[in-house]
Amino acid sequence: MPLCVVGSVALDSVETPSETRDNVLGGSAVYFSYAASFFTSVRLAGVVGEDWPSRNTEMLIARGIDTAGLQVIEGGKTFRWRGKYMRDMNQRETLDLQLNVLGDFEPILPEEYQHCRYLFLANGSPEHQLKTLDQCQGAKLVVADTMDHYIRSEREALMDLLKRIDGLVLNDSEAKLLTDDDNLVRAGNAIRLMGPKFVVIKKGEHGAIFFGENETYVLPAFPTPDVVDPTGAGDSFAGGMMGYLAEKDCHNPKTLKEALAYGTLTASFTVEDFSLDRLQAIGRKDLDRRMEEYRKMLSF
Ligand code: AMP
Repeated sequence: MPLCVVGSVALDSVETPSETRDNVLGGSAVYFSYAASFFTSVRLAGVVGEDWPSRNTEMLIARGIDTAGLQVIEGGKTFRWRGKYMRDMNQRETLDLQLNVLGDFEPILPEEYQHCRYLFLANGSPEHQLKTLDQCQGAKLVVADTMDHYIRSEREALMDLLKRIDGLVLNDSEAKLLTDDDNLVRAGNAIRLMGPKFVVIKKGEHGAIFFGENETYVLPAFPTPDVVDPTGAGDSFAGGMMGYLAEKDCHNPKTLKEALAYGTLTASFTVEDFSLDRLQAIGRKDLDRRMEEYRKMLSF
């Protein structure tokens, strides 16, 4: 089943304790699309400026990702984000954020995107996320991501969005901020009461917690020793998860748990190199092999 994603498309600059990379391919919708494309066909919507290297779009198309919904704004500049990781790679600081064309972005979904049954609203303004949702009336599973910036500055629109989606994925500090509660179990349950049927709280190297109608569980992260650049881990997690659900065309509790596991494993590959480099070097069989290891690791 095709999966539609709307979110940021970026040129990222990333500083880690050992290396810095400037203007590499990034953005929530890009990481999500590439991760999901291991499982299903993906339709990406977003916006870039004139400075966007066309080789990036060509690479996504070669991967089978539909970019008909990627607007290129003449005379505009692509969204840019610069982040720095501390020695403890769980600690990240945003050094610079230039919204550029993303600031005036009006999501317009091409006709074929509007019939997608699976929709992911990647990090972006809740106003944009709502406008996108309005255009995708036939979606049978709608999941969104959000972040601290929007929880603080657009809380009202975010609350409207929460009433209209099936699932929300967000990280632990965002869940605490949204609920004003430092206990993640209470926070996850409180977010479910705001609207979504399920909530996934990501905890970086400590895995993820799932809150559903009838169950709450924790999945650990896959313990990879090679953490080079954690950027995009959250978006790749969501891409692996949604890609698997769309592939199975099902989101019953069992499939959701498997999907969370695939999301976890996709993210574990993303962090092993900068940008999409590691994901570009692996195939579905590598994910499946890691799934076998993960299953063994969890059985007792
Ligand atoms: P993650 O590491 O999964 O949290 O996502 C990192 C990606 O999010 C980077 O590639 C950034 O380009 C993108 N990003 C950072 N800030 C924002 C923002 N305010 N809105 C949308 N995307 C963002």
